[in-house]
Amino acid sequence: MSAQDRYPVARPCLSDLEERYLVDAYRSGWISSQGPYLRKFEEQFAARCGATAAVATGNGTVAIHLVLAAAGIGPGDEVIVPALTYIATANAVTYCGARPVFVDVSPDTWCIDVEQVAASVGPRTRAVVAVDLYGHPADYPALRALCEQHGLLLVADAAESFGALLDGRPTGDLADATTFSFFGNKVITSGEGGCVTTSDSGLADRMRLLRNQGMDPRRRYFFPVVGFNYRLTNLAAALLCAQLERADEIISRREGVIATYERDLSNPPLLSPQPVGPGVRRAPWMASFLVGPAGTEGLRDELARTLDLLGVETRPFFVPIPHLPPYADAGGDHPVSADLAERGINLPTYAELSDVDLKIIVDRVRNALSGINYCR
Ligand SMILES: *Cc1c(COP(=O)(O)O)cnc(C)c1O
Repeated sequence: MSAQDRYPVARPCLSDLEERYLVDAYRSGWISSQGPYLRKFEEQFAARCGATAAVATGNGTVAIHLVLAAAGIGPGDEVIVPALTYIATANAVTYCGARPVFVDVSPDTWCIDVEQVAASVGPRTRAVVAVDLYGHPADYPALRALCEQHGLLLVADAAESFGALLDGRPTGDLADATTFSFFGNKVITSGEGGCVTTSDSGLADRMRLLRNQGMDPRRRYFFPVVGFNYRLTNLAAALLCAQLERADEIISRREGVIATYERDLSNPPLLSPQPVGPGVRRAPWMASFLVGPAGTEGLRDELARTLDLLGVETRPFFVPIPHLPPYADAGGDHPVSADLAERGINLPTYAELSDVDLKIIVDRVRNALSGINYCR
């Protein structure tokens, strides 16, 4: 792609292969939620993630709800989630009638703080949903040990971390169940889509049952339980089969984008890159930086406004969930989440950014930073 005036923050990477598979699915007549691409995608996705089963869903939000529902989480139960995440993580708990308990994140990983998880476990706690924020896996070895000790289900919300590794193991194989999103801005995409991976065959069977309205797989139109329509289409699965074949290429190009920004722009404390823990290979979801030293307010928004005028779209970090009206009564103190939310910014991250594009964006960011009133 050649240099352009305006850079969006995200863009899907779609090639002739996606088109070919999509048209093939379309012409085959298998456009609904059965078909060969669905079977192939679930098989290949499970294999790639090191899990024995993959259950494809309509999006990443219902993937989380499906796991929790299949595990029998309901009214009166509590589920521990990080305070800093996309709202879907908390909403999925709410859909079950359970209560999300918000725990602060660690400044070293931006993921849920395991010591604070331990301190939040109570008699009603049933599960922990960790989130791999901005592509960085949470501390699963420690979370696993804690969850085993207390008999809790450990779910990984890996919507942002497809392709990440922790000590050489891929996300998808680091918790009891792992959920993914294939929304248009994620590392691989089908527009809308999601998946759960697990190596617990009982849990996988239960999720398949609930995904399909609760229909008995051996008896048509017999519904032993109340389920949901959380199915993915074969058309979306066709796109995902192509994205999966091209995943290594997409990931390495996105990694190159983030590496360039980190090399050319890191200048703490004015602009600090995302911290990466030992043994972690992040998924290159969105280049993430913090603007200004801890406790700074307003600099990030000033940078975002200037970059917008210069034709570089950015995104602020998520608003901590307990700061949002539906969860305002949740209580708790989450100073790290609040600080990251105030200072965090995402820069344009997609595979098709050329070296020329990157140079232009880097120059514009440097320009914008030089105009920011900040005393060092
Ligand atoms: C994208 C995302 C989801 C799910 O999103 P959908 O739009 O429903 O596919 C869930 N959790 C996190 C952390 C996300 O970033």
